Amino acid sequence: MLIVMKADATRDDIERVVRVIEELGFRAHPMPGENRTAIGITGNPGAIDPTHFENLEGVAEALRVTKPYKLITLDLKHDPTVVKVGDAVIGGDELTIMAGPCAIESREQAFTVAEAVMKSGAKFYRGGAFKPRTSPYAFQGLGEEGLKIMAEIRDAFGLKIITEAMDERGVDLVERYADVIQLGARNMQNYSLLKYVGRSKMPVMLKRGLSATLEEWLLCAEYIMAEGNYNVILCERGVRTFADHARNTLDLSIIPAARKITHLPIIVDPSHGTGKTFMVTPMARAAVAVGADGIIVEIHPKPEIALSDGAQALTPDIYAQMVEEVRAIHEVVSPVAVA
Ligand code: PEP
Ligand code: MN
Repeated sequence: MLIVMKADATRDDIERVVRVIEELGFRAHPMPGENRTAIGITGNPGAIDPTHFENLEGVAEALRVTKPYKLITLDLKHDPTVVKVGDAVIGGDELTIMAGPCAIESREQAFTVAEAVMKSGAKFYRGGAFKPRTSPYAFQGLGEEGLKIMAEIRDAFGLKIITEAMDERGVDLVERYADVIQLGARNMQNYSLLKYVGRSKMPVMLKRGLSATLEEWLLCAEYIMAEGNYNVILCERGVRTFADHARNTLDLSIIPAARKITHLPIIVDPSHGTGKTFMVTPMARAAVAVGADGIIVEIHPKPEIALSDGAQALTPDIYAQMVEEVRAIHEVVSPVAVA
């Protein structure tokens, strides 16, 4: 059930509805919008009788939800979600650029890349400290040491840090050193981890699973929101298909499809989405043209000696050029054009 409040409903009206929901034993999720507040309800095993709410002051409508989602939907919140991270934002009118190395390998490598990221005007630095590698013998990341290096970068450059947590312990550490928790493609359906980050106060970027449908992906975002963390960002990073000319197939058509259903911001990762340096800039341009809220890309000062994902890394020069190009595209892509 979804309670739509009147435009002139007061804070007391909203609190009264929340109290009734809680007295019924359910959870209330008030979502303030530009024109009105809507309140999502979770925790109810079956349909709720709308008469509990219809006569309460300030209530416009009590609507049955027939879709599998309650909190990620435009039905609950018409306006796009803008996730605020200090003075930086993800979503809305801004194009968000997140960039950095696949993995933090050393202080020197991480700082060289940070210089390029800051110079480009990007606000977010990405870097892996805990790496989900296909082979157990491949470089697994520096762990907490990598997080400490990123925390230093945050202080030195004023960049916000986004980094992956692979398990609950990783989440606790990432909360200590970073600004946004990334959940990787391989963990998209790790439901206990989704619930855990749902109880975090930190924004979460949820990458699409390697073979996840739109509905599966959105329901994973719903898991996080149902626990009370509404600062969720989606990230399309390519899916596994029969095509073998690229590491993954970057599925840009999911952006307009997702926009029809959800208010959550969507970032595109053309690095993992293609796996090849020469494809990253063209697909970054396409992502912005199709209406992505931002891009996340990997940079390495010397891709040929990178400890992970060198084949898809941009050099600082190629990166700088790409940022100029995507910014120019973003200028001409109006929200109407991509609606
Ligand atoms: C990453 O961003 O470093 C990463 C491992 O991505 P994904 O989970 O999309 O493979
Ligand atoms: Mn990588």
